[in-house]
Formats: sequence, structure tokens, C-alpha cells
Amino acid sequence: MQLVLLQEGADLDALSSAYGLSLLYNAKIVLPNAYSETVRLTLNIFSDRFKNKIGHFDKNAEKIYLVDSHYVDNLNSKIYKKIEIYDHHPIDEYKKDIKYHIKNYGSATTIIVEKLKRKKVYIDNIDATILALGIYEDTGKFCYNLTTSQDLKMASYLLEKGANLKIISDILTNRLNSDKIQVFEKLLKNSYNLYLDNKTILIASAYISEYIPDISSAINLIEEFNNVDAVFILLQTKNKITIIGRSGNKEIDLSQILSIFGGGGHWSAASATIKTFSLNQLQDYLEFLLKKYLSDTKKLKDIAIPVEITTSLKHSDGIKILINQEGKYEGIVINNKFDDNLIVLNANISLWEAEKEISKYEQDIFPVLEKQKPVGIVSKKDILKALYKPILDKEKIFLAKKEKPKEKNVKDRLKHFLPEDIYKELKIIGKIAKENGYRVYLVGGIVRDFILSKKSLDIDIIVEGDIEKIIKDYVKNRKISVYFFKEFMTATLKLENGIKFDFATARKESYEYPGAYPKVEKATIFEDLYRRDFTINTLAIEITEDRFGTLIDFFDGLKDIKEKRIKVLHQTSFIEDPIRILRALRFAGRFGYKLEKNTEKLLKLAVEEKLLQKAPTGRINLELNLTFDEENVLYILNLMDEYKVLRQIFPNCFINLEREVIIAKISEAINIYKVLFDLKIEKNSNYLMALMYHLPFDVSYFVLKKYHFDKSIKHFKYIFDFIDKFKNLPEKNIEFFKFLKTIPVEILPFSAIYFNFFEKSIEILKKEKEFKNIISGEDLKNIGIKPSPIYKKILSEIFKLYLDGKISSKKDAVDYVKKYYNN
Ligand code: ATP
Ligand code: MG
Repeated sequence: MQLVLLQEGADLDALSSAYGLSLLYNAKIVLPNAYSETVRLTLNIFSDRFKNKIGHFDKNAEKIYLVDSHYVDNLNSKIYKKIEIYDHHPIDEYKKDIKYHIKNYGSATTIIVEKLKRKKVYIDNIDATILALGIYEDTGKFCYNLTTSQDLKMASYLLEKGANLKIISDILTNRLNSDKIQVFEKLLKNSYNLYLDNKTILIASAYISEYIPDISSAINLIEEFNNVDAVFILLQTKNKITIIGRSGNKEIDLSQILSIFGGGGHWSAASATIKTFSLNQLQDYLEFLLKKYLSDTKKLKDIAIPVEITTSLKHSDGIKILINQEGKYEGIVINNKFDDNLIVLNANISLWEAEKEISKYEQDIFPVLEKQKPVGIVSKKDILKALYKPILDKEKIFLAKKEKPKEKNVKDRLKHFLPEDIYKELKIIGKIAKENGYRVYLVGGIVRDFILSKKSLDIDIIVEGDIEKIIKDYVKNRKISVYFFKEFMTATLKLENGIKFDFATARKESYEYPGAYPKVEKATIFEDLYRRDFTINTLAIEITEDRFGTLIDFFDGLKDIKEKRIKVLHQTSFIEDPIRILRALRFAGRFGYKLEKNTEKLLKLAVEEKLLQKAPTGRINLELNLTFDEENVLYILNLMDEYKVLRQIFPNCFINLEREVIIAKISEAINIYKVLFDLKIEKNSNYLMALMYHLPFDVSYFVLKKYHFDKSIKHFKYIFDFIDKFKNLPEKNIEFFKFLKTIPVEILPFSAIYFNFFEKSIEILKKEKEFKNIISGEDLKNIGIKPSPIYKKILSEIFKLYLDGKISSKKDAVDYVKKYYNN
């Protein structure tokens, strides 16, 4: 069986193309949930023709066609081999394994009609009409500037075959019903021109009660919109704004401009949907972008950071670029390590192009070359900051910055809070610091948890001064293990009694090039705290001898703890480190805090910009594992859903009632298995399964791979391999027991909850545990049976009877053995 998949929101060109493929290959058409009004009309008018052509998605199809679109990211790459794409939109990235039929025609249908003609496939007048619709609509009846002579030739071929122009015209003009005319009237009333760089751009906006799917295809019918270089139409409905763009000037590349909003399309026609802005804000922002795009042509080389260039690999700290005799780039040297495998960027591309480029790679630092000669390096962060900072600056949020902290003496409370031995050690460290003229502080989670009177595990100490010297003095004549990381100027110390301290040198934000500057720039405690994630994590308690126990609060962290809110310190906080999106929700969930208003705005913006997808996947893995280990995991996942973060990691994942119940039960099951049977269960496979049970295995596999949950793949596979068994669990106790024991314990809680055998599993596992008291090898020996492989047989036989309740005490068991096995 062969299938044609239509993309969400498919238009007539897609439908006609699909119809053509169904004639060519007898392929079935899979309709999307939403499609344009003209598609609906065509399906109605020709329902007889489509009746036997509509099918359902089946990943086992031998071939899958995509038409009028080449978006495949929602499909598993394993099925790429089966995919063929017919499209007339330009492609910038061809995926391996997929077969492409791309031609620069005005419609995708043209490509297919060409093939029908070449292969002399029989088409009657109705087929011809259905096919012609796609060409007519997508070329704007041959008036759009992307129309090619081939479109006309193929349309002419269809007219020869009897295509009915009256029907075509009826279907196409039906677009301008009274609803639409009203919207266009509103738009025209509410429009203005922008004159930039010798170009005229019209921006029109309107509030409408409900979105009209194919309104975009009617835009070209409006005279006013055709007389300018480009048009942006902003349609605000209840909870979102749709931007539709049309451009008649190649210098205004809409696919590039609207991709900033996560949208896409052609240079001449594109659209995007936005949820976080108001109409006014969006208009401002769009203007700002257009000005930037059309007048400010900042190139990558303008932000590249010059680094030392060298022709030899001889000893060198920091970052250098190695060139050959002709001055051409050879590779990069980071702390003496040579790397010639990095992706390099062209110095003359725009920042927007650069962003598109870097998003494809996991790499953090990119050499920038002009004609193969190095100009410098840039990091991902540099590019994102240069692009998005002006956007955020428009939000005009100014966050706290105070040079003078509030202070408070908490010495006595600290003494009560900390275990005595830790308190004693801190005093010693404080004394040594004082003697050396340094200052030392407790920082981070421990201080926050101290304010909250919550037990805390990690003891983080920041040193203003020479960390090496302090540690040397401290460990002198003592049995303390020191793990020193010179590159980062940090150290972990382990005392004999198990106490662990993490030391770090106070440092500034400027560690943009990890490992680049081995001598970490020393800084003050203020600067160290200023680079942290949220105000509640910026408190410090000084432990230097003369100021031991002084709580220091630069950013009103105390107030935010009291008022239960998560607040970032900078406008660009989430851009600099998108992982903070997850951290913010995790802390909010853990403590039951709210996001402070501006922080919430910034977070939503960062989510909308899909910044999380630009974060290193390894750190997302760590963050998710921490989330799964939280007590309030369900609440945190709910927040992640509410802020639309969850669905950016797990495709189509929403926390509905069903999932909520499953997650809650899994948490409980993990605890119960642990308490009753001492099963040590890593939580992640269970929660991952709970977040992806709605997906086919191929899709989950892709997600697990991407975020490095390699161990969980095995567990997922187990469930999918034995899905039939899970759905029809063995009825006999012993069979059930055997199956239960084959389930990897790491995935037992999910399986038990999802397939409804949790209680039964508890009952059976309890019996297994108790069985030791019913009968053992020792008992058999006492009865007088000689040790031999028969023991195993007897024990499992009795176990079976015990499971079924036919034997229920030691006496029963002994009697049974005596009766059947003595001699
Ligand atoms: P937990 O109780 O979960 O350990 P914590 O606050 O100690 O909470 P850690 O992840 O151990 O969190 O980090 C220690 C400190 O380092 C934090 O308090 C915070 O100040 C800082 N920090 C951690 N991650 C970031 C980040 N992504 N951006 C900025 N600062 C961070
Ligand atoms: Mg911590």
C-alpha cells in the first residue's frame, strides 16, 4: 500500500497533487485535521472520486509521498527510506534517504501532471478538473510571479483533457464570501505603509472572532496589497496572532523574516503564529525587525571575536587558530588540544543566517572564516545574544542591580541549622581565610534552604582570594581528599567523616568560551552572585572569621523567598542559558512559588523563540533527571505543560487527566516497591514512558536518543516488544509470576500502572518474599531428602501451590513433601 500524506492546513495544490499521485500509483490520501475551505469544497463536490481514495496513516506503508511540503521532522527518520517528496518550494536541507522531486514551478501539481502526461496515464474530464484546481489556485490563476511556462503548459494539457473552467472558477471565487470581505475591509482600514530602503511595505491588522483558514489565498485578490513590495497581515484571534506575509521583492525574503517567529514558507509567501505578544507589541516588533533586516545588515564578522592566530602547534594556553603558510585556516587549538573537525562559518553571512546554521549543530564555538582565512570565533551564545537582546530590550524590563547588599547576622541560627561537625569545619576555613586576607562565603542552595529551614545537601563555598592557598592550609596535617580542577579553579574536598565541601573561586560571567581561559577571571562575590540564575539563589553567608555568619543579600533574594517568587536577574537570562527555563519551573514546582511577572514574560518569550531547542541536549538530560527525582514531579510537569515547554521536548505531550493519574500512581508505585521490596528503581524510564506512551516507538526512540536516555531505549523496547503480553496478562498465578520476573525492574512501575497489574504484582511479590519462610532447601534436608537438582523442582512445585493458596503454611508444605517425595 502507498500513501500520500497531506500536511496540516493543506491547500488545493496539495490536494490536487495527492489526487495525481493516487492516479499514478493507486496511493491512498491521508487527510489532515484541518485544511482550507477550497479543499473542503473540492472534497464535497467530487466526493464520488475521493470516496475510495482516502486512507489512514500506517507506518508500514511501502511508500509514503509528501506533496507541496517537505517538512518531515515529525516523521521518524527510520522511515525516510520510504519517503518521496513532490514539492515546488526550495529546499535548503536535503535529508539522507529521502527521494526528492523538486521543481521550481508555480505549483506542485504541475510536477505531477508532467509525470501523468509522460507516462500517458488516462485522465478524464473530472480528473483534469481536480488537477487543474491546484495549478490555478497556487499560481493565482497564473498571475503570481512564481508562475512558470510549464504551469501554463500543463494547465493547457488539462484543458485538452476536458478540465471544467466553470467549476474551477466557482470553487476558487467561493473564497471571497462575505466573512472574508469584512475582514479585508477591516484590514484595509487598519493599515499603514512603511518605507524602508526604497521599498514600500504595508502592514495591516485586524481582530477577528475566528480564524478563516484560507484567507491567505485570497490576499492577492485585493488590489491594494498588490501594489507594494511586501504585505504583512496580522490577524488577532482569541489567543493568538497569525502573520501572513506576501512579498513581490526578492530582497524581502519572508521565509527568513517569519522564521524568526517560528513560521516558514517561501520568500514570496510565508506565515507564522504567535502567542506571547499583543497586537501592538507585535507590530512594533515586526517594524523593528524589518528595519533591522532591511537597513542594518550586520554580518557575522561584525561580532566575531578576534583570537590569536598561529602557525605552529607549540605550547599555547587559551584559544588559538592554526593557519598554514598561505594564511588559510587549518584548525583550532583550545588549551593545547588541536581540533580540525569543527564546523566553520562564513564571515559574510547575516546573523539570521548564522542562527539558522548553528541550530543544526551541537557545537558551541565556531571559527569564522573569510575566504578560508580566519577572522575570529563566535559562540552560539554570542549570536543569540546579538540577535535577541534588542528584542528583549524592547520589553523594557529592568531587573534589580544593587552594589550595596542588605546584611543580617544569622550566626546563632546557623549554628543550630548546621550539623555540629560541619559548623566547626566552616569556622576553621573562615579562620584560615582571615589569616590570608581572603574572604569566604557559603552560597547557593544551602543558603536558600537555610532561610527556608530545609535540610540541604550541597555545601558550596566561594573564595575571594587564592583557592589553592586556602585549601593547602586547610588540609595540612589532616586526612582530607582533595580533587582540584585547576582549569576552573574549583575543588571538591572529602573529609574522613564523609563531609563534602565544594570550593570555587568567585568569578565573572565571562566564561563564554568554556576552557578557553584556564586562568578563570577572578571576581568579587557580587560579580559571582550576579551571574546566577534566580534571586532566591543569590544569597550568601560570609564565613570569614571577622564576619562569620553575616547573611548578604544583594538582589532582594530574601524578599523573593518570603513572597514566594522566582525572579531572574537579567533581561537576557533565559537567552544566555535556556536551561534556566527548566530550572525556573523546577524550583517553582518544588517550593510552590510563582514566576515573578516580568520573569514569566521573559520565560514565555524564550519558550516562544524555542530557545530550549538550542540548548545542549546533555544538560536537558541532566535537568530532566533532576525533575524526575523531585518530590513534586507531577506538579513540575504540569508547570512545564502550562508553559508549553513539555511539548518542545516530548512531541504532542500534554498533561491531561489520564496522564496526570498515571504519573501520580507511578510516583506512588515507585515508593511502594522500594519500601516493601527494596527495589531500587531509577525513575527516569518510568516517567519518560508516562510522557510518551501516546507515541509510536520510532518517535520515542528518536527523542530518547536525542536527549541521551540510551538506557531507557531498552526499557521502551521491552514494553513495545511485549505489548500483546501486557495487554493479555497470563491468568495463572505462576505464569503471571514468571512474566513479572522478566519485566526489567526499571520499568516495572510504569508497566504495572499502565497495564493495571500493580495490586496483583504486590500480592505476588509479597508471596515470593514470604515463601522463604514456608520452605527452603534446609527444610528438605531435614525431611531427609538428599541434596540434588530435585530440590529445585520440589521448591518450584510448592511455590506454585503456595501462589494458588493450596499450601499456606510451613506445615502444609512439609506434609506435601513427605507425602510425595519421601523416598
Ligand atoms: P538544589 O537544591 O537543587 O541542589 P541549588 O540551588 O543548590 O538547588 P544547584 O544546581 O546545585 O542548585 O546549583 C548551585 C547554584 O549554582 C545555584 O544555587 C545557582 O546559584 C547556581 N546555578 C546553577 N545552575 C545555574 C544556571 N544554569 N545559571 C546560573 N546559575 C546557576
Ligand atoms: Mg545544590
